[in-house]
Amino acid sequence: LQSRLPKVGTTIFTVMSALATERGAVNLGQGFPDFDCDPRIVDAVAQAMREGANQYPPMAGILPLRQAISSKVEAIYGHRYDADTEITVTAGATQGLLTSILAIVHPGDEVIVIEPNYDSYLPAIELAGGIPVFVTLEAPDYALPFDRLAAAITPRTRAIMINTPHNPTGTIWREADMRKLEAIVRDTQVLIVSDEVYEHMVYDGQRHESVSRYPELAARSLVVSSFGKTYHVTGWKIGYVAAPRALTAEFRKVHQFNVFTVNTPMQVGLARFMADPAPYLELPAFYQRKRDHFRAGLEHTRFRMLPSDGTYFQCVDYSAISDLPEAEFAKWLTTEIGVAAIPVSAFYHEPHESGIVRFCFAKKESTLDEALGRLAKL
Ligand code: PMP
Ligand code: GLN
Repeated sequence: LQSRLPKVGTTIFTVMSALATERGAVNLGQGFPDFDCDPRIVDAVAQAMREGANQYPPMAGILPLRQAISSKVEAIYGHRYDADTEITVTAGATQGLLTSILAIVHPGDEVIVIEPNYDSYLPAIELAGGIPVFVTLEAPDYALPFDRLAAAITPRTRAIMINTPHNPTGTIWREADMRKLEAIVRDTQVLIVSDEVYEHMVYDGQRHESVSRYPELAARSLVVSSFGKTYHVTGWKIGYVAAPRALTAEFRKVHQFNVFTVNTPMQVGLARFMADPAPYLELPAFYQRKRDHFRAGLEHTRFRMLPSDGTYFQCVDYSAISDLPEAEFAKWLTTEIGVAAIPVSAFYHEPHESGIVRFCFAKKESTLDEALGRLAKL
């Protein structure tokens, strides 16, 4: 059988987590919390199951959850998505991204990808028959060259994929960036797929720049988010896509035959849990404490820290410690030092070495301290 995805192997996250387990390393590689979620959210889902919320929900998700999402987005970003026609509950952001791409990209369409990029984007574009066009963030601070982004647009460009806060670099877009994007796409038909799964993890009093804050951008965007990140339930695989009516209609045509719909009890539980905004409003302070604790510990190592303005990732330059390529260094760090990390090179489509690995700080303080103790040897 000729593969539809000949270049795809096992993801770096799975590889590094397996190696971490095998070697008993502290796993700061794959991005997921090692602490449990709020017990109230588990109770809400369990209660929904006991109440009999166990059959198919509507294709787009239960209305109370779509209404809760709509209210949250409007309260924070000032844009009202119609719960009925503009919000769809998805099986995590990954399905939201794949379905978005399949819904809008025709064979031969170009899709602009800003790299380093999350690993699910390219297979999604490839499955749709699209052609990825790369714009690379620039050293030393992963700045986006907007002139190159503008130059990458052709009559065949169907969409630009953006991601803020950004995995893996921890950078965020600011208002000036959004304004530049707005100007670049203004006289085009280009759509935007905006991956905002880390929307509630932005630090130092800065704000998340959702495309939904910008009416011109919102009108051409599919916004993808995930409850997994916000509520510490990455294993639940539930999220949503918000987009204007016409885009949502196309999205749902694919969604309907992709998953049809997403499990009912979690939707009922989440709709109830979302009534209280405190969990996501408190998230920046919660993760900022972890980030600051981790960074304070890294001061005692020879790693050079890059900024982490958002996400739960901290990138470090290890060139003072080793000249191994990133993937080799990450394996060495896991097996010899006992701390797993992710090579940033895994987020590029071609070999790209910059001597940087990514750590995830969504961990208990004791886990971070154990890792820092091991890293202090370096
Ligand atoms: N986009 C980015 C940037 C991510 O980091 C992740 C989580 N790994 C996803 C999408 C996928 O989220 P989910 O687990 O909800 O599918
Ligand atoms: N998003 C997570 C990360 O970047 C991993 C998700 C996955 O394992 N696919 O680490």
